[in-house]
Amino acid sequence: MSRMSFETANERIDQQSQYSGGNYTNTLMLKDKENAFVLSLLKDVTDVDVYSVHKVKMTSKSGKEYTIDVDCLGKDCPLCKEAQNHLNEKFPQVSKPRDVVYVPIIRLYNKDKEFEPQYMVLTRSTKWYRNTYVEAASRFDMSKPLEIMRSGNGVDTTWSIYPAIKAYGKDIPEVDPNKVLDDLEVDIDESIYGTPFSVVKNWNADQMNQYIETGSPYVPNNDDTEEEEIKPRGNNKYGF
Ligand SMILES: [Zn+2]
Repeated sequence: MSRMSFETANERIDQQSQYSGGNYTNTLMLKDKENAFVLSLLKDVTDVDVYSVHKVKMTSKSGKEYTIDVDCLGKDCPLCKEAQNHLNEKFPQVSKPRDVVYVPIIRLYNKDKEFEPQYMVLTRSTKWYRNTYVEAASRFDMSKPLEIMRSGNGVDTTWSIYPAIKAYGKDIPEVDPNKVLDDLEVDIDESIYGTPFSVVKNWNADQMNQYIETGSPYVPNNDDTEEEEIKPRGNNKYGF
């Protein structure tokens, strides 16, 4: 993908109601008592991506708040320092770092309960992973379809996981995960870490400081290349 401004990227994320291929990665979101039928793409429970991340609050152009995961730099991490200023906030601007697992999955059905495999990432605490996922893996075949159910809200939320025999009263169609990944042009590693579109952002210290100062990790960039990409031609506010 060609370079685009961070603002544009945010707009695009906001506009996007569901994963439709390309470089964006959705995380699995469930409401209280909602369930999802998924295929786990983990080959082995020990082969999972774990990052220590800050939950960082962002605001879209349209004013909507959302959080993203930013990789903690460890020693001298500016976000660790900033998190100390937000310890008493219910939804802090910057949280303390937490260990989070990122499990690549295919969600098998869309919101209308139609069979439509989509690539997503399941993000949970390491504690959940050990107590629930690894525990389930000791009893079930995790390469088969799974049902994930959320119940509760806030600190009383639990996510259960068990084998899916049927979905919405019908047999679950067979899925070739590799074909789905190919069709959607998904690179699992990149979907999780390393690009602005990954679930885990890898900001450097300068970007973190920039975020703390301005709310965005990127210095506003007005060079010609970007202008051309983010504004339709003929719509130049300066009129030339
Ligand atoms: Zn940190």
